[in-house]
Amino acid sequence: MQYHEAEFLLSGAQQSQWPASDLPEAVFAGRSNAGKSSLINALVNRKNLAYAGSTPGKTRLLNFYLIDQKMIFTDAPGYGYARDNRSSAETFAKLMDPYFRYRPNLKAMVLVVDGRRKPNQDDILMCEYGRHSHLAIIVAMTKTDKLSRSAMLTNKRVIASDLSISESQIFPVDSLKKQGTEELFGRIEQVLLPKAQ
Ligand code: GDP
Repeated sequence: MQYHEAEFLLSGAQQSQWPASDLPEAVFAGRSNAGKSSLINALVNRKNLAYAGSTPGKTRLLNFYLIDQKMIFTDAPGYGYARDNRSSAETFAKLMDPYFRYRPNLKAMVLVVDGRRKPNQDDILMCEYGRHSHLAIIVAMTKTDKLSRSAMLTNKRVIASDLSISESQIFPVDSLKKQGTEELFGRIEQVLLPKAQ
């Protein structure tokens, strides 16, 4: 298991609060409960670096982490709770829009999806949002320990098709047993730091 250094930088909403940095950045986005916090913790071998808020969808900030002194991971609030709650969707858009637009070092989106579920409209929109913002899209397909190998392969195909991405960009992970996490970390590094590879 590879060791990775991870340091919490800050939580912020507005542009003035984002960390001043030129380091390449990847944003982690996903539906609430998809397994985003567990995944970030598994990637850097920490128990509680990222934590799920006790109330789903409550956290309304971007959390920035410095990884191995060379890149930044940003944890975006989980989306998809209270779908009919317009003010919550608006708050989310107000937080994310400027971030996607005015963060030039943002290079990649790690879209976290529950491997047992078909992507929903929010996942599809988030993926399109990332593509539209010229980000490399990497999909983390979580909770694969709950699937047989054949079910995992079937779901992977469905996810690729629904999100219009290549299956090679989908990384199956089991965050609890840390299966697949090093492959995913390697891919993020490859995208963010292409020359270092
Ligand atoms: P978040 O809301 O996207 O940050 O999701 P969490 O990381 O809090 O995970 C939601 C629930 O799914 C928790 O009960 C986790 O323990 C569980 N979970 C997350 N990843 C995995 C995984 O890879 N395998 C299994 N079996 N459970 C997982």
